[in-house]
Parts: sequence; C-alpha cells; structure tokens
Amino acid sequence: MTPLPKRKVSKGRRNRRRAHHGLGPVHLVECPRCHRKRRPHTVCPYCGYYKGEDILLIEEEE
Ligand SMILES: [Zn+2]
Repeated sequence: MTPLPKRKVSKGRRNRRRAHHGLGPVHLVECPRCHRKRRPHTVCPYCGYYKGEDILLIEEEE
C-alpha cells in the first residue's frame, strides 16, 4: 500500500476544514507608561518602553 489518500477530499469537506483558518482580532494590552494600546510582549511603539526601560528613542510630538 502506498501512503496516499483513498479518496479525493470534497470541496465541502476541504472548506469546512479551512473554516478555522481565518485570522482573529489582534490582542492588545495597555502600555503601563503611556496607557496606549500595544500588542503584548512588544516594545511600546509610542513611547519605546518595555520591562522597566526605554528600548527605543521616540521623538515626542505635541
Ligand atoms: Zn507606551
């Protein structure tokens, strides 16, 4: 026996399998310093803060 699928997967079955493949909403947490929303486990893109120190130098406007 060769390791091949016995039958063609129908369009309906294939599409039902892929029904779970869509991208969900992006999770956001609040930056503890500037209180804007950022993605978790990332340096804050607005103030450059992460885990107690400034990682990026951000030029402040306004
Ligand atoms: Zn921030």
